[in-house]
Amino acid sequence: MIMPIKRSIYLDHAASTPTDPQVVEAMLPYFTETYGNASGVHSQARASAQAIDDARQKVANVLGCTAGEIVFTGCGTESDNLAIRGVAWAKKQAGEGNHIITSPIEHHAVSHTIDQLCDKFGFEQTVVPVDHEGVVDIKAIEAAIRPETTLISVMYANNEVGSLQPIADIGALARSRGITFHTDAVQAAGYESLRVDDLNVDLLAISGHKIYAPKGVGILYVRRNTRLLPTLTGGGHEENRRPGTENVPYIVGIAKALELVAARRDEENRRQMALRDKLINGVLNSIPNSQLTGHPTQRLPNNASFIFDGCEADPILMHLDLAGIQAASGSACTTGMPEPSHVLTAMGVPYDLGLSALRLSIGRQTTEADIDTVLTVLPDVIQKVRQLNPAYSMRP
Ligand code: PLP
Repeated sequence: MIMPIKRSIYLDHAASTPTDPQVVEAMLPYFTETYGNASGVHSQARASAQAIDDARQKVANVLGCTAGEIVFTGCGTESDNLAIRGVAWAKKQAGEGNHIITSPIEHHAVSHTIDQLCDKFGFEQTVVPVDHEGVVDIKAIEAAIRPETTLISVMYANNEVGSLQPIADIGALARSRGITFHTDAVQAAGYESLRVDDLNVDLLAISGHKIYAPKGVGILYVRRNTRLLPTLTGGGHEENRRPGTENVPYIVGIAKALELVAARRDEENRRQMALRDKLINGVLNSIPNSQLTGHPTQRLPNNASFIFDGCEADPILMHLDLAGIQAASGSACTTGMPEPSHVLTAMGVPYDLGLSALRLSIGRQTTEADIDTVLTVLPDVIQKVRQLNPAYSMRP
C-alpha cells in the first residue's frame, strides 16, 4: 500500500516557487505607503520612481549591464514576446530580413510567437534539431544562417528536462554574423550565471515566479543599440519599450529576489545538486525500466526528470499527490487526449514513453528527508500504475 505522508512535499519549483518572505517584506511598503504613479512630479510619485530606479540598478548589477538595458514586464511570456516580435518587426521594417532560427524545445512563449510571425506575417523560421539529451546542435545553427537571418532564439535551460544549452557559443556565433541573439532564461535564472557579456546575449528573459518573486512580473534585458519595436502601444514607460504604469511593488520584489538568488547561488546550487543526484540515482536504481531524460550532467541543479516504461503520467501524478507529493508531467492534454511533449518528441523519445514523463523539481525548502520519502513512495506508485496496465503487466 502507498502510505500517505504527513507533510506536503512540493517538487514543482520549475512550475512556480513560493514568494520569499524577504521579497514580500521588501514589497509591502509599495502597496500602502509609497503608492504614487512613478510618472508624476510630486513626492509620492518621485518615491515610486526612485524605488524603480533602485530596483533597475540592482538587476543590472546581477546581469553585469547598465540600468538602461533593463525593461520590466508583466511576466516571462511577455519578455519573450517583446524580444522576439520587437526585434523581428524592427529588422523587417528596416529591410534587413525575415528569417529566424530557433530550437524545437523552446517554451511556447517563444515557439508560438515565432509560429505566429511565420503563419500570419511573412516571416520564415528554421528549427534546428536537438540530440537525445536535449542539447541544441550549434553546427546546425551555423548551417541554417542565411543572409536574411535577423534573429536566433535558443533557451538557456529547458523547463521539462533541464538540459543547459551552449548559450555563450551560440551568442558568439550570432555576433560574428551580425545576428541578434535572444535567450529565454526563465528556468536558468535561479541557478546559472546571468552575466550578459559572458553569455554573448542581446536579449535575455526572466520571470519573477520562478525565482521566489510573485507571479505577474518579468524582466527583459535589451543590449544597448538593439532596435526593438514595442509590442504594446501606449505611454513612454520603460524608455518607450513597454508602456503601462509601472507595477512598483512587483518590480521591487523581482529585484530583491534576483539579489537573493545571486547571493545564495553557489551554496544553494551545491545543496540542490546533491539532492537531485540522490534522487536521480535512487530512482534509476530502484525502479526497473526507468530512464533519466535530459543531459546527465549539463542540467539544472534542481531538475530530475524521468520516463517509465508501461506508465502514463496522470495516474503517477495522482498517486503521488494522494501521498502528499506534488510533481509535474511532461505531457500536455489540450484535446482530451494526452500527448507527449514537443520537447521529448524532439529528443527522439518514442510516443508511449513520452506519455510517462515525470518531472520532479527541487527548491529551496526541499530537504534530504523529502528525497528519502520520494524514494520510498515512488517505486510503489510506479509498480501500482504498471499493474493496472495489462499491456505492461502481462509482458513475458
Ligand atoms: N519560458 C520558460 C522556459 C518557462 O518555463 C516559462 C514558464 O513556465 C515561461 C517562459 C513563461 O513564464 P511566465 O509564466 O512568467 O509567463
